[in-house]
Amino acid sequence: MLIVQKFGGTSVGDIARIKNVALKVKAELDKKNKVIVVVSAMSGVTNQLVDYCNQVSQLMTNENLAEYDSIVATGEQVTSGLLALELQSIGYKARSFAGWQIPIKTDNTPSKAKIEDIDGEFLLKILEEFDVIVVAGFQGIEPESNRIATLGRGGSDTSAVAIAASVKADLCDIYTDVNGVYTTDPRITDKARRLRKVTYEEMLEMAYSGSKVLQTRSVSTAMANNVRVRVLSSFEEVTPDSGTILVNNNEEIMERRVITGISCAKNEVHVTLEQMPDHPGLSAIIFGALAEKEVNVDMIVQNISSDGKFVDITFTTGKDEIERVKQAIESIKSQVNYNKLKIDDNIAKISVIGVGMISNVGIAHTMFKTLASKGINLLLISTSEIKISVLIPKEYGELAVRILHDAFELEKRRVA
Ligand code: ASP
Ligand code: MG
Repeated sequence: MLIVQKFGGTSVGDIARIKNVALKVKAELDKKNKVIVVVSAMSGVTNQLVDYCNQVSQLMTNENLAEYDSIVATGEQVTSGLLALELQSIGYKARSFAGWQIPIKTDNTPSKAKIEDIDGEFLLKILEEFDVIVVAGFQGIEPESNRIATLGRGGSDTSAVAIAASVKADLCDIYTDVNGVYTTDPRITDKARRLRKVTYEEMLEMAYSGSKVLQTRSVSTAMANNVRVRVLSSFEEVTPDSGTILVNNNEEIMERRVITGISCAKNEVHVTLEQMPDHPGLSAIIFGALAEKEVNVDMIVQNISSDGKFVDITFTTGKDEIERVKQAIESIKSQVNYNKLKIDDNIAKISVIGVGMISNVGIAHTMFKTLASKGINLLLISTSEIKISVLIPKEYGELAVRILHDAFELEKRRVA
C-alpha cells in the first residue's frame, strides 16, 4: 500500500515526540508499505512566527503577506528535516522536501493560498530510491512570482490530502492529539462519543461549523478526489478499530443515525444593518462590498418592515474578518443609508449535523423545543440539507450542546 501519514503540531512538539513519530512511520514501513509523511511545525512555533510578524508590521498588505509566508513556512521546514534525520538514524533512507522542491504549486493568494497542482510523478520517482519521504506541510510555491506561499492556518492537513490525491495513495492517515472525530467536543460533555465513520459532507459541515479536527479545505479536497482519510491519535496504538474514517455517502454506514454531530462555534460575529430604504440591488451592493474585501459571510437574513419600505440585513462572519467588514460597510454607507450598524460578538453558533436529516422529519422541531425548554433565545436560524444552525447568546453555548446531545441521544450507538 501507498500511505500518506500526516503529523500535527503536538505530535511533533519536541524531540521525544518526533522520535515517537518515527516509530509510527517505521510501523508502516515494516509492513512493506510505501510512505510519504507530511508534518506540521512543532506546536506553538507557527503562533510564535506569526507574532514576530505582527511585532514588526501590523499592516498586512499583499507585499507584507509575501514576507509573512516566507517567515511562517519555516516552522514546517525544521520538523521535516528533523524527522528525516531521525528516520535516517534508525536505519531508513529518508529525504525531506520543502513545498517548492516538489513542487506544490499554488495560486496567488499569499497567507491563504490554494494548491493548484502537485507533481505526484516526482514523489513516486523519489520513492523508488528512498524508503520514505518527509514533506513540509502548509506550504507551496506560487509559480508566477516564484515565492513561497502558505495555505492558511491548519493547512498541513490540506497538504497531506492533496499529496495523497496526487500520488493516488491508498490511505491518508491524519495523526493528531485526539483519537478521532467525536459527536461533539468531549470537553463540553463526557457523553461525547467517537464516530467510527463520518461522511465527507458531514465532516465538511462539522469543520465549517467549528470542529477543529481537520482544516475545512482538507475535507473538500478529500471529497473531490475521493481520498480515504483516517483521523488517528499519535499517542495511542493503532488498531483496526482506531480513529474515524471519512467515507462516501453511499458507502455502507453500519450505524444508522439521524444526527451525527453537534458543534459550537464561538468565533463569529453577528452584524446587522438596520432600517435601510428598500430598493432592488441593495443586497448586491452590500455583499459586493464584502466580497471585494474578501469577507467570508455565513448566515444571512433579511427582514422587510410591514409597510415594505425598510429592510434590516443581518449576517454572521468570523471575528477575524471584522476590520474588513467595517471597511466594506464604510465604503457603501452613503449608498445604503442604514440607520444603525450593530456588531455583536457575544454569540455562539450551534449546529446539528447529519446526513440522516434528509430522510427524517422533525429534527428542527426537536432542536427548537429542546432549546426553548431552557429558555434559550434564538437570534438567527439557517439550514442546509444536512445541517441546522442557530445563533444564541454566548453564555448558553455549552448548555445548548449538552441538552441537544441528550435530546438526539448521541451517546447511544445505533447499528442498523
Ligand atoms: N503550522 C501551521 C499552523 O499552525 C499549519 C498546520 O499545523 O497545519 O497553522
Ligand atoms: Mg491541525
